Parts: sequence; C-alpha cells; structure tokens
Amino acid sequence: MSTHFTSEILDNGIRVVTFDTPNSSANVLNLATLRELSTYIETITADRDTTGLIFSSAKPAIFIAGADLREIQCLTGEAELRKMIMLGQLLFNGIADLAIPTVAAIHGACLGGGYELCLACDYRIASNDHSTKIGLPETMLGLLPAWGGSTRLPRLVGFPNALDLILGGKQLAAIPSLGRGMIDAVVPREHLIRSAVQHIFKGRRSRTHYPLVNNSLVVRVIASRARVKAMKMTRGHYPAVPKALEVMVEGLSKSLTDSLTLERVASVELARTSACRNLIELFFLRERAKRCHAMPNDMQKSTFRIGDIGVIGAGVMGAGIAQWVSAHGHRVILRDINEDAVLKGMAGIGDIYRQGLRRYTFDSASARQGMDRIYPSACEVPLTRVDLVIEAAVENMEVKKQIFQRLGESTRGDAVLATNTSALSVSEIARGVSHPERVIGIHYFNPVHRMQLVEIVLGEQTSSAVTEQVLQFVQGIGKLPVVVKDSPGFLVNRVLMPYLIEAVSLFESGASIWEIDEAMRDFGMPMGPLRLIDEVGVDVALHVATHMSDVFRDRMTIPQTLLALMERGYLGGKTGLGFYIHRAQGDLKVNRRIRRVVTSNQARHINRKALQKRMVLVMVNEAARCLEEGVVSMPQDVDLAMIMGAGFAPFTGGPMRYADSVKILQVVEQLKGLAEDVHERFAPCTLLRDMAKSEQQFYVP
Ligand code: NAD
Repeated sequence: MSTHFTSEILDNGIRVVTFDTPNSSANVLNLATLRELSTYIETITADRDTTGLIFSSAKPAIFIAGADLREIQCLTGEAELRKMIMLGQLLFNGIADLAIPTVAAIHGACLGGGYELCLACDYRIASNDHSTKIGLPETMLGLLPAWGGSTRLPRLVGFPNALDLILGGKQLAAIPSLGRGMIDAVVPREHLIRSAVQHIFKGRRSRTHYPLVNNSLVVRVIASRARVKAMKMTRGHYPAVPKALEVMVEGLSKSLTDSLTLERVASVELARTSACRNLIELFFLRERAKRCHAMPNDMQKSTFRIGDIGVIGAGVMGAGIAQWVSAHGHRVILRDINEDAVLKGMAGIGDIYRQGLRRYTFDSASARQGMDRIYPSACEVPLTRVDLVIEAAVENMEVKKQIFQRLGESTRGDAVLATNTSALSVSEIARGVSHPERVIGIHYFNPVHRMQLVEIVLGEQTSSAVTEQVLQFVQGIGKLPVVVKDSPGFLVNRVLMPYLIEAVSLFESGASIWEIDEAMRDFGMPMGPLRLIDEVGVDVALHVATHMSDVFRDRMTIPQTLLALMERGYLGGKTGLGFYIHRAQGDLKVNRRIRRVVTSNQARHINRKALQKRMVLVMVNEAARCLEEGVVSMPQDVDLAMIMGAGFAPFTGGPMRYADSVKILQVVEQLKGLAEDVHERFAPCTLLRDMAKSEQQFYVP
C-alpha cells in the first residue's frame, strides 16, 4: 500500500508522482520510501498508457531532503549499507532507463539523494522560491554521492563544474543552479507542473557530452591541481574529499555500471572513518538544537510569541541583529544615541541585504520588505509595543545597567529584556530592573548573518517561561540555541579565551606567529588563534581577556603582548595591522614589526604537535570545567557550541568527543605533564581526574 507517494494521471497520460511523507515536514529517502518508489517505477515501466512521468513534492519547503541519516546510522554493518546504496542505484537506473520522458519538478530543498533522483530524470525544473536549494552536500557529512551523483553530475555539467559542486558540498539557489547547468529551467512555483508537462512534450533527451573538459587527459590535469588544493584546505582530515575526487576521475573513464560500483565501494570505506561518524553526529547535534525546549512539559509551554522587537545600539552587532530579525519577518525599532551610528548601521544592513540578493538568499521584493520593517531612530522613541528588546550597546556594565533600568520602566511588564553582552553578568545587569525574571542573555556571534550559534544566557532570576519564549524565538529565526548558565565568558568565550591566551603566551616564549597558527590549522581549525585575535579585534579580545583574568586569576593572565599591540594601535584587521599585516583582497603577511614581549625561550624550538597539544588541551580542560560547574549540562552542548561558535575542528566532533578519542586518562596525564613542565594553569580539573580514575567517557560508547 502506498504511504509516502500519491500518483495522479493528467489528461494527456502524463503521470505525476508526488512525494508526501505523512506527519512530517520533510521527505527523505530510506528503505521504505526507496522500496515504495521502486514499486511505482515497476508499474510505470509495464504501463503502456503512461506518456511521461513528473516527480513532485507536496511539502511547503522540501522536495527531498536527502537520505535518512538516522536510518543510515542504525544500519548494523557494511553489508546493510551496501544493500541500501544498491537499492537506490537500481531505482535511479530504473528511472533513467524508462522509455518515457521524465521530469523532476523541484520546489524546496533538493539535496543529496533528492538531487540524485533528479539527475536520473531527463529534465529538472525548479521553482524560484527562496526555499529551493539544490546540491550534493555528502562530503560535508564525510560521505560521497553514491546514488549515482558522483557518476551522473560530471556527465551532466562537465567535470570541473561537478568537482567544485561535489567537493565543496555546495547548495545553490535555483538561478545559480540553472547557471551551472544543474537544472534546465526556473519558473514560479505555481507554474511548475505546467512547465514540467511542456518539457515532457520535448521527448526523451540524449545525455550531454563534454568532449573537451571530460577528456581523460584534461580530467587528470584538473584533478591533480584539485588534489593539491583539497589537501591544502583539508590537511588530510576529510577523507571524503579526495575519495570523491578519485571516484569522479575514475568513473568518467568507465561505464555507468562500473562507476556506480566505485561509488558503492568508496562509500562503504568512508562510512568506517571517524570523520564521517563525527560529522553525522554534528548533523544530529544541530537538529537537536533546532528542537530543544526549556520546559519538557507541554502543558507549561506559553503561547506568547515574540513579534515586534527593539534593538538598542546600532553598532556592528545591533545592526547585524536588526537585519537578521527583520529578514525573518519581525518589525524592529533600531535605536542608538548617536545619529552617525544609526546611519552607518542602516548602511551596513543595506549591504547585507544586497549581498543576500547577489547570493539569491532573497528576491528584491523580500529584501525591500525586510529593510522596510526596520525603524531607525537616534532618539529615545518609546518601546511600549515591543515584545522583546535586545540590547547591543557598548560592553560596559554601568551603561548596560542604566539602559536596563530605563527599559524596566518604559516597556510592557511582560516584554522580554535581553542583552547581547559577550561576557558581562546577566544577573548583575538585571539587578534593579523591575521584574528581573524577564531579563536574559541572547548572545549572537559576529557576523550575525553568518554565525548560526546563539548562546541563551540564564540570569539568576530568569524565569523558565521567558527562557522558553526566547528559545522558540531563536529557533524561529533559524539560529541554533545553546542554553548556558550566567558565568564569565558563558561557554564559547570561556573556552576560547584560555586558548587565545595560550597562543600569545607561546609567542612570548619564542614560537613564531606562523608556526602557532599553522599548528592549529593542521589540527583542523579554520584559522589560527593569532589570526583569530586579529579578526575579532585586539581591543575586543583584550577586553574579554581582562574580564576573564579578573575572575580566573589562577589560570588566565593577560599577555603583555596584547597590551603592547593595543598601545601601538595594532588592533588587527580593522586597522590593517595586528599579528599580521592585512593587505587588500585578504592578503596576509606576518607583522614583523610587532614588539614581542619575551617571557622565556621555552617554546622556541617546539614542534607543531607540541604546540597543538598545549593549545588544544587548555580548551579541553576549560570545557570540562564548564561541565563540572554546570555552565552547560551536556557534552553535546559543548561540542556543538565550540564547533559552531569557535570553529573547533568539526571532523573531531568537538572538544569532548576529541577527549574521548584520545582517552580521558591520556588527557589527564598530558595535562599533568604540562602542569609540571610549563605552568600549573594546565592542572587537570576535578571532573577530568575523576573520569580518568573511573575510566569514564563523555559519550557512552
Ligand atoms: P559597537 O561599538 O560597534 O556598537 C555599540 C553601539 O552602541 C554604538 O553605536 C553606540 O553609539 C551605541 N550606544 C552606546 N550607548 C548607548 C545607549 N545608551 N543607548 C543606545 N545606544 C548606545 O559594539 P558592538 O561590537 O556592536 O558590540 C555591542 C555589544 O555586543 C557589546 O556588549 C559586545 O560585547 C557584544 N558583542 C560583540 C561582538 C563583536 O564581535 N563585536 C560579538 C558578540 C557580542
């Protein structure tokens, strides 16, 4: 019996098969849906009256989201995985071999296996809706497209194009997909079926050939360059990237059947890697954050929904927040005390919307509507109608307290009052505010439109109803929330700061800027810690370091070099000088004019592995302390937050999973060694020592 698909026959004998998984907002490909669709294809193959076949989806924003990762994770062995891949390959071959023309009418996310189904069709047309995104992101999960994607895409769009799409795991909007040859037409959603029928009338289509770029000699030259580039980018940590490259290159010189065999063998091999397991876990951590609730009991949930918002401060963060929430349908009053700041903030918001237009994230009408939802003001306009105020003024306790006291008097008694502070105490800010239970931290990361993580900081008096409202709001605007206790630096800055301080301290004891940063890039960080300080701004880093070193004196000391940089006005990227000289087009050179405050020569000849050990272990130790103190309750929160908020090497699964992979006993021994040889700041925390003693892990194996 059909449960996931419905079928309708149009007047002209064209059959429309619509994918609609019951009780779910998504369609995914798993054993059940693959089998059901296979039965359909068998029926259609035998049916001489069907003149054409159109695939569509009934979901509002998803065509097919891809393979069912939960099911893949539950497969018990390689034979089962091989069988599942085979089932999909045979099904898509069946579609490709049909004697009638086939069209995929794509509306919404069409990813991985979803797009591989489309690749087996004669034509692909897509709606111009902003929910439509198309691509093969498997390498981002440590896998490769194995339902024919690695084989069919290079034949459809040419090897160089396919290489970029598959190795980069790109997901493109409809118009750029058309530009890349991934689809044949873009139409409004309501015209999809009509356009699909017109394509059916064109008849079956012969496959595209690229005699020039798919020629074996050219392919090998391009591949060898791509291999070098991929190695430089991934530093060997993401085996799916070279493997996908190899399969595409070999596959092009083979028959379709042999190329599909290569896909299967390579996938099974990749599924065994820890990178694949960790990246799939990360996917689930993100899904978990999208659904987490403050109050598990449904009865307690409030029906209050945050609508209009006030943002205080139109600087970097205030403007970024106003843009993001306005793009998600909220009306915003953006208030600052400085008129120039308001003008600059609005100009910045305009730039982000324009960038979105260039990337097809918005169409011009929705960008204009988004801008129109923002009401800028350089005077104290009343905020009596807003449901939420987000304060993003300067990082100064006195200023913030004053702002909150006034907000307490001038807003509705049930309005939520949030601060975007990076490190100041939310409970302290709430002191003196009427109804302090409505004060909470919503800590966005910079740049707001790129960083998905948001820390929700609970003050001593924050009520659970307010927490729930804010969680729903943050999830509703497409961010990933992690709920944290109000403690210095919250979670991400708390773990990041000792790492940045350690990097500067290594520099002060003789290691070179280049070696320190390269060591951490070798570890898998997107950029080195000293470069990160330049990006964040030396002033901002120093500010947070000062605040944290006041609290954690025993293990965090402000490095003198940061003070020296500040004194000379070397603030990093924004002044063009910091640890690096920042030249046009992102060109970087180590700044040799920097005055190194030498504390010792200890790290002068230290190798990259030893540099990594010091910098990674201080993060692991601090992260474990956060769990020990209940800053967050689960290792999953730490791992998600550190990967999404600080770029901790994703293939490791995050600092806690990394510690498990090294073994906690080893981590503790290494920290003890560093505490003896370098400084007692490395002494392992109680939680790690206890876990080592009882041979525990952060994750149950
Ligand atoms: P910014 O200096 O760019 O902007 C602050 C703005 O607040 C200025 O335009 C200033 O005129 C305005 N302002 C000052 N007092 C005000 C008042 N009483 N009422 C209204 N406006 C007032 O600062 P920013 O980088 O946007 O940071 C804002 C907040 O966000 C700080 O608390 C900061 O710690 C936090 N934060 C910053 C980052 C970052 O990377 N910049 C990241 C996360 C959080």
